[in-house]
Order: sequence, then structure tokens, then C-alpha cells
Amino acid sequence: MSIENYIRDIQDFPKPEIGFKDITPLLADPKATEECLELLLKGVNGKKIDKVVGVESRGFFFGTLLAQKLNAGFVPVRKPKKLPFTTISATYDLEYGTDTLEIHTDAIQKGDKVLIHDDVLATGGTAKAVCELVEKLGGEIVQCNFIMELTFLKGKEKIGEYQVYSPLKY
Ligand code: 5GP
Repeated sequence: MSIENYIRDIQDFPKPEIGFKDITPLLADPKATEECLELLLKGVNGKKIDKVVGVESRGFFFGTLLAQKLNAGFVPVRKPKKLPFTTISATYDLEYGTDTLEIHTDAIQKGDKVLIHDDVLATGGTAKAVCELVEKLGGEIVQCNFIMELTFLKGKEKIGEYQVYSPLKY
């Protein structure tokens, strides 16, 4: 079965009129998880990766699996005040208001080849902020990869200067 069959549509979550793509059925199935990981790895296409940066919180699941398979380090990007060591932060616009993400200052070394991973590319605001954090620390972004891209939100345009890969598109 295709991994698409393990993505569940939840209507009106987290707000009315929003359709949410739920990856928990995928995570609950070891074969589907393995298949998704293989697809994500195929997208990386053998490129050398030093660090996989996963975005809180759903980017942590496959982010750590990818890091293991790629023999790379895993780096979490988190919401404010979650990371214990010195951090830098990036703030980005939401439909209403702003959001902020943080990374440890020692998480990326200058010249590190970085794979950024999150579950979903929607408007691209999150991914763009993560790219900004990685580049501030001197990392070279090899690819931004996602399980799925919500193409109608045009997030790919926001991170158009980077290589973007996602096995599923809606
Ligand atoms: P963006 O910043 O691209 O608009 O939103 C992407 C972020 O929001 C990602 O961290 C992702 O986890 C979350 N997100 C947005 N829409 C969805 C969705 O439909 N399903 C899931 N699982 N996450 C979403």
C-alpha cells in the first residue's frame, strides 16, 4: 500500500475550515514508516549530509531516522524557551501574528552540509525561518525535505532558492 493511505485528513483542525494532514497512522505502522523513510532517502540521492535539522515537533520523527541512515547528526529546531543551551532565533509571520523558532548556537559547524526535514510544507514560513537559522550558523543547505507538500499554499516559492523534495503532493 502507498504511504498516502496512511495519511489521514482531519477536517476543522486546528481551526474551523482547516484540513489537517495527520501522519500518526503512518507512524503507527512500521512498514509504512520504513517505506516513507526509503522515499525520503531516495530524494537525498546519496548526497553527503553532516546534519539533519528537524523541526518541532513532527519533523523530529523522520528527522532522527534520516540522520541515523545518513550517518549524520540530528539537530532539533524548537519553539522558544525549550532548548537549554545558548540559542539564536528567527521570527516569521503567520496569518495572524508571528511565531519564533530557536536552534542551539553550537548545533551547526561552519560548512556543514545540512538536510532540513519537516513533515509538511504548507506556506513555507516555517521552513524559511529554519533555513535562516542554519545559514546564520554557517551551514550549507543541501535540501529541504518533507513527507508532503500542500502545493496550493505555494510554500515552495518561499524557499525557491533551495532544493525542495517531497514524495507526496496535495
Ligand atoms: P508552514 O510554515 O509551511 O505554513 O507550515 C508548516 C508547519 O506547520 C510544519 O511544521 C507542519 O508540521 C505544520 N503543518 C501545517 N499544516 C499541516 C498539516 O496539514 N498537517 C501537519 N501534520 N502539519 C502541518
